[in-house]
Amino acid sequence: MHPEQYLALPDAQPTVPFIDLSVQQDHLRPILEHNLHTVLHHGGYIMGPEVKKLERSLAEYAGMGHCISCASGTDALQLALMALAIGPGDAVFVPAFTFMASAEVVSLLGAEPRFVDIDPLTFNMDPRCLESAILECLQEGKVKPRCVMPVDLFGLPADYPALRALADRFGLTILADSAQGFGATMNGVMACQLAHITATSFFPSKPLGCYGDGGAIFTSDANLAETMASLRVHGKGADKYDNVRIGINSRLDTIQAAVLQAKLTRFPQELTLRRQVAAQYSARLAPHARTPYTPSGLESTWAQYGIVLKQRDQVEKQLRARRIPTAVYYPKALPFQTAYAHLGDPAGRFPVAEEVSRQILHLPMHADLVPEEIERISVEVIQAIQTCQQG
Ligand SMILES: *Cc1c(COP(=O)(O)O)cnc(C)c1O
Repeated sequence: MHPEQYLALPDAQPTVPFIDLSVQQDHLRPILEHNLHTVLHHGGYIMGPEVKKLERSLAEYAGMGHCISCASGTDALQLALMALAIGPGDAVFVPAFTFMASAEVVSLLGAEPRFVDIDPLTFNMDPRCLESAILECLQEGKVKPRCVMPVDLFGLPADYPALRALADRFGLTILADSAQGFGATMNGVMACQLAHITATSFFPSKPLGCYGDGGAIFTSDANLAETMASLRVHGKGADKYDNVRIGINSRLDTIQAAVLQAKLTRFPQELTLRRQVAAQYSARLAPHARTPYTPSGLESTWAQYGIVLKQRDQVEKQLRARRIPTAVYYPKALPFQTAYAHLGDPAGRFPVAEEVSRQILHLPMHADLVPEEIERISVEVIQAIQTCQQG
């Protein structure tokens, strides 16, 4: 499923895939084929009826007034920032530890990403660090704080109550990057309801993935929803040839909507399965490594399962020899990416993000990982850790 995982293994194929979507496909094959067949027959490849239907299903599932589908999770973030009229002279607060897309869209629009360190337990944006970053930005007076972009990293909801309090105090909008967290809850409430706007991704390996690129934006603000729907089709007004603003082309393909409609039927059950996989890993690995921390009341989507290890690189090597695929999300905190080298952030400025990027290691994770596989992977992980501790 993930060719790069195989390429990373010079001598041997992994004994389990890092992400396996084939069992899911087997479960859904009749409905997938039916839905795709329908699109092939009606031929409405762009904005066909499946797109509207999916948007209604997703809005209902999320408990949000509006869902606007689009071409990717990255575009979902960009469309939201465009609707908020974020541009030159504006600051958007982004966690230092996330995927490049979170900050990239801010830079693309000419605004300034302001990096914020993460909480040492949850790895999500640390509200105390956000407060300092906002105050520092105001004191400098060069760019105007406008927006906070928390990321639901690895599927765990960010600390929305604390972030909302700061956003309200400083008059900022919360745009959640929930590319990994769609379906996560906080005290039984969908996490996407806790931000002003939430963006998600349907990239194939995300918890709710399609068979290509796709994304969606959720909001309860009717005006923002209308603006984002216009922006994704060249800033259309009454129709496509009435252009009322500068927009982009970012529609979700009808075929992908048909795939997602099928996948949505099994999604709630898959979230339960993912939680069981994570619980089994944690029960087995907790005595040997730092396992993920989930604050009470939060339910993660378990987009990824990562452990924290002092000897991460050695354990990773050991596991490769044992043919267990692993991944590192993410090996470098964003402020230290070459693309952001011009910011000149010194090492040690984001101590938690820097340490986690050196110590985190992700294990195979998908809804259809069976207990025997989890046990086998866990045994190999424990042996790899013990080997490294002896060495
Ligand atoms: C996957 C991801 C994105 C981008 O989504 P695409 O659909 O690949 O554009 C953005 N942010 C985070 C945190 C992600 O994991």
